Amino acid sequence: MKQTKLDHLCRIVIPVSIRKNLGMKEGTPLKIEQNGDCITIKIAESTCRLCGAHDAVHEELMICSTCIQKIKKL
Ligand SMILES: [Zn+2]
Repeated sequence: MKQTKLDHLCRIVIPVSIRKNLGMKEGTPLKIEQNGDCITIKIAESTCRLCGAHDAVHEELMICSTCIQKIKKL
């Protein structure tokens, strides 16, 4: 378990090892949920396996619509 703390604006920094493992970068949308005394942070949207986009990702294929269109043209 990684440990961090809130800054003066109550923000947290997600440790770099976790960001790298999850492919997180600036602008990655997140969901924050409270369950009792626990807080869960999840990536809000799926990420395209090919380009890393978060928009319009097909849930089963895990590929965005832009990449799907490029593949169809091959
Ligand atoms: Zn893509």
